[in-house]
Amino acid sequence: MKISSDKVVSMHYTLTDDKNTVLDSSSGTEPLVYLHGHGGIIPGLEEALEGKSKGEKLKVTIPAEKAYGPKRDQLLQKVPRGQFPDPEKLEVGMSFQVDSSQGPQIFTVTALTPQEVTVDGNHPLAGLTLHFEVAIEDVRAATAEELQHGHAHGPHGHGHAH
Ligand code: ZN
Repeated sequence: MKISSDKVVSMHYTLTDDKNTVLDSSSGTEPLVYLHGHGGIIPGLEEALEGKSKGEKLKVTIPAEKAYGPKRDQLLQKVPRGQFPDPEKLEVGMSFQVDSSQGPQIFTVTALTPQEVTVDGNHPLAGLTLHFEVAIEDVRAATAEELQHGHAHGPHGHGHAH
């Protein structure tokens, strides 16, 4: 069976950046399972997997535009320290969730002065070219329930509450 829309794909993957640093990997855990054609993974990886079959291995390089998008400067903001509930406890690298008009958004503290906090709302992988090594473990037809939900249900039924 080849990968196309409405197929459920299981795969192991290793994600590296341009410096060959491993950013993420399914190695040692369950394979990633997703429903193809429903935006469950980044567009560039979905394109590369289209038409592939169980047992195939591939290496793909995906530009930021087809991954998490470019870094957007307008998502860097300076906020007065006093607006934070615990201004004394702030540290560079902390992240927190803010409810914005587009839903929950994660911000990371990137710089601190006694008065100001610089926060970055970009996805941590925004602006990066991503390199994936993928091994396709399984391809199957989605169930009616998976199609209705628009995502895959794992082999052990884990993952989401609904
Ligand atoms: Zn579901």
